Amino acid sequence: MSMKLEAIAEQKDVVRGEQPKIIVCDIEVSPILSWTYNAYEGNAIRIEQDPKIISFAWQELGKSKIHVVTLADLSYSGNRFSIDDKKITKALHEVLDSSDIVVGHNWDNFDMKTANARFLYYGMAPIPPHKTVDTLKKARLHFKMPKNTLDEIYRYIFGKEGKTKVKHSDVLWDCLDHNNPKAWVAMKRYNARDVEITRDVYLAMRPFYKAHPNLSLYTRKDRVCPKCQSERAHRRGKEWYVSGFSWKYQCVACHTWYRGELQRDGVEKVTTK
Ligand SMILES: [Zn+2]
Repeated sequence: MSMKLEAIAEQKDVVRGEQPKIIVCDIEVSPILSWTYNAYEGNAIRIEQDPKIISFAWQELGKSKIHVVTLADLSYSGNRFSIDDKKITKALHEVLDSSDIVVGHNWDNFDMKTANARFLYYGMAPIPPHKTVDTLKKARLHFKMPKNTLDEIYRYIFGKEGKTKVKHSDVLWDCLDHNNPKAWVAMKRYNARDVEITRDVYLAMRPFYKAHPNLSLYTRKDRVCPKCQSERAHRRGKEWYVSGFSWKYQCVACHTWYRGELQRDGVEKVTTK
């Protein structure tokens, strides 16, 4: 890959100003505990326990640390029939509360809605208005890849397996049923790795996104890449409008195309019939 993902991830080449806090986040949830007549596509006839947040991980873009919080870190009772996720829900609320932009795979439809449901349940306030970038929506919108799972997108782009060998489902029971510390460590690793590969997929795809929060609005700087904030760009051609033209710029760091401000000088009005 020609893009220097590591450099972009660490935002080495950015203007100084009020940086937006961009976090990449992923939430792990427990299965619904229910009674069903059929194991396959069984419609639950009675729900014993709703899905609970059991782990979440996040990384602030530009920082190297990946944070993971699990139920076990917040004194899990080990009773899978009465999982108490109040503390972890509160911790998640605090992280989201302080973020300007949240990036996640299937974030809008799964993670954010799951989190909102838990906030609602616990009588917490909604998190403040903020922007989200859902890499699943973006994958469907801009690319034709065989499968849009995070794993498959990662494999498609980078040519190797992304997720950890031990999956969330492999250790779920050992975590929830036996409260096994080793299983919780594996859960943490899995969750953290998910954040890493979401970040890499996001950064790789980002130059292709037509819509993305304009980061220069936060820093109030003109002529910076609206996506990675690099000041280095090549001016390559013009885009013409009725009232003038804009220069087309291509970011040297991430290859995003963007337009400069409208140039009116020297533009003659041409009337056509
Ligand atoms: Zn850029």
